[in-house]
Amino acid sequence: MAGLIREESIAEVREKARIDDVVAEHVTLRNAGGGSMKGLCPFHDEKSPSFHVTPSRGFFHCFGCQAGGDVIKFVMDIDALSFAEAVERLADKYGVQLRREEGDVRDDRPKGPQRSRLVEAHKVAQQFYAEQLATPDALVARQFLAERGFDQSAAETFGIGFAPRDGDALFKHLRQLAFSQEELVVGGLVAVGRSAYDRFRGRLLWPIRDASGDTIGFGARRIFDDDRIDAKYLNTSETPIYKKSQVLYGIDLARKDMARSSQAVVVEGYTDVMACHLAGVTSAVATCGTAFGDEHARVLRRFMNDHEEFRGEVIFAFDGDAAGQKAALRTFSGDQNFVSQTYVAVEPDGLDPCDLRIKQGDAAVRELVARRVPLYRFVLSNVVGKYDLDRADSRVDALREGARLVSSIRDKSKVDAFARELAGMVGIDVDQARAEVRRAAARGPARPDQRGSRRSEPQQAETPAPPAPRNPVPDLRDPRFALERETLKLVIQHPMAIGRTTSDIGVEDFTHPVYRAVWELVAAAGGPVAGSGDATWAGRLRDAATDPAVSSAISALGVEPIRTAKEPDAAYVSVHVFRLLELTAMRRIADLKSKLQRTNPVENAAEYNRMFGELAALEQHRRTLRERTVGAS
Ligand code: ZN
Repeated sequence: MAGLIREESIAEVREKARIDDVVAEHVTLRNAGGGSMKGLCPFHDEKSPSFHVTPSRGFFHCFGCQAGGDVIKFVMDIDALSFAEAVERLADKYGVQLRREEGDVRDDRPKGPQRSRLVEAHKVAQQFYAEQLATPDALVARQFLAERGFDQSAAETFGIGFAPRDGDALFKHLRQLAFSQEELVVGGLVAVGRSAYDRFRGRLLWPIRDASGDTIGFGARRIFDDDRIDAKYLNTSETPIYKKSQVLYGIDLARKDMARSSQAVVVEGYTDVMACHLAGVTSAVATCGTAFGDEHARVLRRFMNDHEEFRGEVIFAFDGDAAGQKAALRTFSGDQNFVSQTYVAVEPDGLDPCDLRIKQGDAAVRELVARRVPLYRFVLSNVVGKYDLDRADSRVDALREGARLVSSIRDKSKVDAFARELAGMVGIDVDQARAEVRRAAARGPARPDQRGSRRSEPQQAETPAPPAPRNPVPDLRDPRFALERETLKLVIQHPMAIGRTTSDIGVEDFTHPVYRAVWELVAAAGGPVAGSGDATWAGRLRDAATDPAVSSAISALGVEPIRTAKEPDAAYVSVHVFRLLELTAMRRIADLKSKLQRTNPVENAAEYNRMFGELAALEQHRRTLRERTVGAS
């Protein structure tokens, strides 16, 4: 677009666009005396009118919410437009030729039909299509609507129509009304092959309207099996009046309640928008054949009266299926300020609002929206849900990946709350979750909000990559396994000393897979007692090993010095054995605690109480072992 609009053009727009006319498209005004008019404010929720318009001065003001300004400001606020866009919109409507600072009228605006002509053509087309819905040819279209719970009055409310199957009915109709072929092609209603033909044929049509209620495009659903176009939905492609990155189906109906409630519900399709509105969720909109993007978010924010600090709530009612979850995750990687106010409403059976309304009625749709959860929690539970939380190593992985997500939340005031949620989901201590989030923040990478342009790189918006496969053989010398190592050294080097106290040891006391395998060989050979006084004991065990890692470990365990200067006595052995058993008890306690934290004590009372009893017994067992360890040393 060419340069700045010149001041005299702006003044001309202000003069010609009567503010009372413009406001009257949105607000019912009545005389308030003194040359003023008043009505219910479109920008805030009120019962008695405090919204005033003074045509002689060209101003509006609301004494309730302090919104106010001139006619341009009104159009900016009500239609979520920039200053220049509002001026252009009014200039079109009131026939003002805009002049710009740079250059002359020639590069005033791109050559082509005026917006008002395109809007007019769509208005005629919408009426034409709506009339066609009553014709015999449209039986399938009417059945489609009826099957989805939409009666004739619903069809009228939403202006639904039917595009006849013959190729150029609309084209002929509009040409008769003196629209040029260029206007119809540019507007996206007609395409040109060998000759001009209707863009939509034999389809059910939803008029897509802008915020002021003007039809600017159509969404068209396939209803005939012999439709030559396979796509289930066809939408108007980009035109001078239809910007698909900004268009939201239903915005004309939803925006008032959006402003009042500071809440917007985003659904996936035209029928979902209808179902929501009919069910009483009157702030529902949908994107039209494109993913929800930053520009859509911007439009919602403006309508939700959230110009500076965003406090509104945007609720995505996605399908519970993989596609819907993907959509949620894509949103998650977007504008983080927006994300923090974003919620997800997922129907447990995966029903979309339209199906939900058919099967369970209007109340179920309202409940679906009311049951929303913050997007953070939704994404977090998706990530954590991939892991088997009954296993300690999986919990570590779940914690790590969850912490990475939580650390990427830009709203720091929310990080701690989500660290706590993460702890609850994984079933670990809050402090542990907090520490992991801090570590993830320090590592820093893979922050969704540092990815720059999301639009062009949708594949980057996937859920974080699954964890790398765990190394199946952890380092034998890892200090976490020191006690297992020392115990096995005693078993191999001093079978007689340890033999008497090892009856309590079992394979579950060894967490390293190699040490586990060593113990299994020992047990298979008859236990440490079998090695008493047998000089070939270590060699026998080594020969029995089939895994080279295990036989090499046995050699190492056989030669590595015991960590005591003197001959290992009963006390030394006892300390190791009891400590080993104590560690096993502690692991079982941690597993059980984790499970308890993930079990709802109200919904699963019996299970919860059983585990609680088991936990108490384990704690007692652990205390006994502790005392014996201390007593032995
Ligand atoms: Zn107000």
